[in-house]
Amino acid sequence: MGYAEGHPEVRAQRYFVSVAGDILIDTHCHLNDADAFPDPSEAVREAVDAGVTRMIVVGIDSDSSRRAVELADRFEEVYAVVGWHPNHAASYAASELKTIEELLNHPKSVALGEIGLDYYRQHASKESQMRCLNDQLALAASVDASVVFHCREAYGDLLDALETRPRHRYLFHCFAGSEEVAVRCRALDAWIGVDGPVTYPSADTLRAVLRGFGHDRVVIETDSPWMAPHPYRGKRNRPAWLPLVNEGLARALVVSPGVCAARTTAAALGFFGRLGL
Ligand SMILES: [Zn+2]
Repeated sequence: MGYAEGHPEVRAQRYFVSVAGDILIDTHCHLNDADAFPDPSEAVREAVDAGVTRMIVVGIDSDSSRRAVELADRFEEVYAVVGWHPNHAASYAASELKTIEELLNHPKSVALGEIGLDYYRQHASKESQMRCLNDQLALAASVDASVVFHCREAYGDLLDALETRPRHRYLFHCFAGSEEVAVRCRALDAWIGVDGPVTYPSADTLRAVLRGFGHDRVVIETDSPWMAPHPYRGKRNRPAWLPLVNEGLARALVVSPGVCAARTTAAALGFFGRLGL
């Protein structure tokens, strides 16, 4: 969507590009996973040394969301996203919404997530996933929170649900949709997140879809400890490896890593807010 000169969104975009520089933001990681990161301070330090100066830690239920907020309190570089993941929908009850709303009120909570639908793992029935999703979408609308989606083999149902709702700020994390799905996300003015798979030699289809999406609403993420980029595929991922994702995306979009960093950082600030930058 195009905005006229002087529109607040145009001014905001200019501000974001001017601060973006070479800053890299890991927009999705799970430093709150205590098994993978028994000492998150080590992962944070290592990331900062690699130029990754902001990390957004994402919850998957009430406990992990609380831990994300605790890490945001503890580290200047960390911000939190709080919510119930569809794989945990079976243990979700509407009473949990109150906890999520309280955690969302924290000054370093920057979105509600990760929420969505997962028909690949199906740890919960489609009905309970849909209930968990709809409750949280209603909460996001009532408190005007940006929303981060997890979606696996369920883009059709998720987009059908979103297209009937009023316009809102959405980010599809770890995007793996087809060109048709990308067109529908674009029509919602949504952001998409790109991870390790963009670096895999076999991911030509993903790279072609990303080239078609346009650069202005693409953010980068590690999804640590999952989704390690090439050449670390299969290893425990870490925010310090985000520059490999940035380089992979830069190659896919045929731009320099510096340009890619500036654009993805500007896109992240556009979605999550200024993150203290
Ligand atoms: Zn995640």
